[in-house]
Amino acid sequence: MKRNKTVLVTGGAGFIGSHLVEELLQKGQKVIVVDNLSTGSLKNIEHLKKNKEFHFIKGSILDENLMEDLIKKVDQIYHLAAVVGVRMVLGKPLNSLLTNIKGTEIVLKEAAKRKTKILLASSSEVCGKDDNIPFGEEDDRTYGSVYNDRWVYAFAKGVDEFLGLAYWREKKLPVVIVRLFNVIGPRQTGRYGMVVPTFVKQALSKGPITVFGDGKQTRCFADIQDVVIALVKLMVAKNAEGHVTNLGSDYEISINQLAKKVKGLTGNYSSEIIYVPYKKAYPDGYEDFRRRVPNISKIKKTINYRPSVGLEESIKRIIKYYDNK
Ligand code: UDP
Repeated sequence: MKRNKTVLVTGGAGFIGSHLVEELLQKGQKVIVVDNLSTGSLKNIEHLKKNKEFHFIKGSILDENLMEDLIKKVDQIYHLAAVVGVRMVLGKPLNSLLTNIKGTEIVLKEAAKRKTKILLASSSEVCGKDDNIPFGEEDDRTYGSVYNDRWVYAFAKGVDEFLGLAYWREKKLPVVIVRLFNVIGPRQTGRYGMVVPTFVKQALSKGPITVFGDGKQTRCFADIQDVVIALVKLMVAKNAEGHVTNLGSDYEISINQLAKKVKGLTGNYSSEIIYVPYKKAYPDGYEDFRRRVPNISKIKKTINYRPSVGLEESIKRIIKYYDNK
């Protein structure tokens, strides 16, 4: 009889991780989550604790003994643990550099001992500041000065991609690298400034909706449900091994339009849309992107990726989540 796989999810108590764990459990897999709860939360996984196939360990990916012990036991690893958010890095880059580079190296090194299949979560941040639309996996990129911490996250995730590819080439470790572009859904907090949960909470509390800059900057938002389904498919797609693959939506919307949409969908027309100058919104040295659009032709070919949750439906689900809280 075919044995169900045992899967390790690092960062499994986070927003993306907790949704991924749900999907894996639903597929009958046994899941071990390791999370240091720095930005992840027990609340995100509370409802999974009654499932006997689910195991949670509070710990750090920097703990080599723990990682060695856990990785020995599993068939697959989703490596999602990271210091998240560009703004978390400002002023204290060391923790991000160590976690996002050294932590990933520890996980890769342990995986390589048994050639355990691993999916590394990367970020659209690695695309840098080029106005290269849509951004392809192989495109060149430009980063800001080494004295500006704003670029630490982009560099670190870029090093993770290099590390993943090097382990694939030199150690024959089966690695899948996925660049995530603006994923949204329930459980994402606005704490780190993310725009959709922030707008939803502002509209629901009938407060002003804070658009930064002129609001003409654009993003593409991908629904968490589409994203986790794609992650599970990418994990087993032979043609994704040794590759970096973009994962996101290519439906582009300005932040102005987004604010209006959220306002309309909450039914709260009394919320005012206000404009906050970048200087007030962000600490010194922060640079925003004008546009960010992934080229998703590769993932369409690799796993026949067809996102099924549109932006409105996705926002409605987030509104429902915050309404019930
Ligand atoms: N943003 C905004 N108001 C907010 C939070 C964010 O106008 O309260 C803008 C932000 O300046 C950026 C966009 O929304 O242009 C997306 O921001 P987010 O932090 O969600 O993602 P990222 O910038 O990393 O793509």
